[in-house]
Amino acid sequence: MLVILCLAETGFCWGFFAHKRINRYAVFLLPPEMLLFYKKNLLLIEEHAVDPDKRRYQIKEEGPRHYIDLDHYGRYPFPSLPRKWNDAVVACNEDSLYKYGIVPWWTQVMLNRLTEAMQKKEVFKLLKLSAELGHYVADAHVPLHASSNHNGQFTGQQGIHGFWESRIPELLADEEWDFVLGKGNYLKDPGRYIWECVFQSAAAADTVLRTERWLSLQFATDKKYAFEERNGIVVRQYASSYTRHYDKLLKGMVERRMQESIKAVASFWITAWVQAGQPNLAALADLSFSAEEKAAFDLLQKEWNNDRLAYICPDDHAQF
Ligand SMILES: [Zn+2]
Repeated sequence: MLVILCLAETGFCWGFFAHKRINRYAVFLLPPEMLLFYKKNLLLIEEHAVDPDKRRYQIKEEGPRHYIDLDHYGRYPFPSLPRKWNDAVVACNEDSLYKYGIVPWWTQVMLNRLTEAMQKKEVFKLLKLSAELGHYVADAHVPLHASSNHNGQFTGQQGIHGFWESRIPELLADEEWDFVLGKGNYLKDPGRYIWECVFQSAAAADTVLRTERWLSLQFATDKKYAFEERNGIVVRQYASSYTRHYDKLLKGMVERRMQESIKAVASFWITAWVQAGQPNLAALADLSFSAEEKAAFDLLQKEWNNDRLAYICPDDHAQF
């Protein structure tokens, strides 16, 4: 029973469901020169969208790459927080930067790695880095990834993290939301773009928390939670009616942030491709992985299966 409760209330970044959908839909916003290659590898891009989360409880360094506690740095426009990594290290010291999260900088590291993989036409790396860059870009769009009160732990709202980013999209995205989004764009200044994303996330965090606090006062506990089926098992989770009420009060915020994530992921892939000199990806579409490369994916999956229980029930104080 404990495991079931934990599974229902622990938040993953954007949730596995949403991360996979975000990467999937992003592929369809790519220009024709990229589309063929990415479409051919759609399953891989989708499945490996969640690898960074699978690593989080295996590798200590992984956690801070998914968030930034912007409230630690005061208020917008956060004058005490330099946007360039080297300046930030001087101003804040490296340990402190890791403590409060590094997602805007890490996204740029991944972008540079992807650019290099495109230049060298390293198919395995190119796909792996695309899938994972998609993860970090999407995380930067989640309001509670930009707040130290990331799971409502300071305000008695434990569980809100997964509520916002997993429960709502799982209930509504496939049935009701619109993912016809036009095209991704080349980003002239990707650093500035990702900082804007996290600033918008931080600005929305207060609404996310305040709205749920208010709504929870209108619902009796037995109406707020319900035993409902999820992925074939019955779990205690936020009740469907409560979830719908909350989503309505947020006025489409979760759908909008998911749409913006998709557009941003496509834009970051396009930016890497343009920075790499627009290599001919169509020529790579028929290449397959070496046995060694395939084994690397399999190993991650195996480790994840072994650590599964530890992963779904992390210590409350663990950084998400
Ligand atoms: Zn994440």
